[in-house]
Amino acid sequence: MTIWNQIKNFFSRSKPAVDETSQAVVTEPTPGALTQELMVDLMLRLEKTTENAYCCDEVFALLDEYVELVADDEDAKLLMPLVKNHLDMCVDCRDEYEVLLHVLKSAESE
Ligand SMILES: [Zn+2]
Repeated sequence: MTIWNQIKNFFSRSKPAVDETSQAVVTEPTPGALTQELMVDLMLRLEKTTENAYCCDEVFALLDEYVELVADDEDAKLLMPLVKNHLDMCVDCRDEYEVLLHVLKSAESE
């Protein structure tokens, strides 16, 4: 086996993602292996389970309220669990949340 084939095998095993060589190394899916089809299926399921989740705009509209709860030591994640879920997944909104929290806290301490 050439080095090149070894490299190709390595990548085709460790990452099913699309790259230039993937066309050439497509093999029959091994039972239990994480194939691209399974990934897509998984992502579709994930999308279904998060159907009730907020989008960024919705979270943004509620962020003031959420931050006030946090600042008041209320259990914000219990009162607004969908906002909390979104903040856990979305870096952009979490950044926004941290900025707002910081602003609110420094406004309070003045
Ligand atoms: Zn977001």
